[in-house]
Amino acid sequence: MAVSLSPVFYARQLRHELKLTGAVDLSLVADRMNIRIFEEALDAEGYLIQKGKEARIIINNNIGYETRKCFTIAHELGHFYMPHHQESIFRCLARDIQSYCSDRKLEYEANEFAGEFLLPAQELEKRLLQPPNLDMIKEFSKIYGTSLTATAVKVVQLTCEKIAVVLSESGEIKWFRKSESFPYWINKGPLHEWTYAYDFFSAGKSLPETPQKVQAMAWCQGVSREELIFEESMAFPNLNIVMTLLYIPYEEECDAFWW
Ligand SMILES: [Zn+2]
Repeated sequence: MAVSLSPVFYARQLRHELKLTGAVDLSLVADRMNIRIFEEALDAEGYLIQKGKEARIIINNNIGYETRKCFTIAHELGHFYMPHHQESIFRCLARDIQSYCSDRKLEYEANEFAGEFLLPAQELEKRLLQPPNLDMIKEFSKIYGTSLTATAVKVVQLTCEKIAVVLSESGEIKWFRKSESFPYWINKGPLHEWTYAYDFFSAGKSLPETPQKVQAMAWCQGVSREELIFEESMAFPNLNIVMTLLYIPYEEECDAFWW
């Protein structure tokens, strides 16, 4: 049985084969791969349908954001390109594509493929010259035409800093992704009242524009009472969503960051 390689490997291989650098023009990529892209009313976020040598990607025409459409197209390209993704029809749901932590293996892999195909690690790492913050994530998402959440997830995967991205919706933590060095776990469920994100949902307070110190136990499990963490939250009021970056400076940086 052939060994399947990582989704990141396949995404890099395809970028290399197509000689891509920087932001990707997905309709051009689809043309070169003989894949046709359609937008229709769907019961899912997107489909990949393969029949013989023909392949079609169909995207839900309800998706309001261009960046979200792009991620879904790149996700379907992942199903098409990765050799061990062999189903003739992939029906891909919003909850699998948007959560970045699907427990369905092939869906998770297609997301990892899309993350690398749109946001190549080798390019991003050169830009990660300081601890990530929301301004940096906004800048990268502009350069690569990717959503803020997809960009934040990729940055968190690449950085050596102790950082996590948390997505909350209607006052509840839905998912989080953390860097390798971020030492804590974050539970899903209602936000703690000591967080700024909680204030946004419960009292409609506007969120501070810079990172704020909060008690780490308001976000993380197994933390002592004294420990502090930086919270930088950003609201998407139309979606009733808050994206939060949590950041713990290294010891030697502490003086500069805390005081
Ligand atoms: Zn899928």
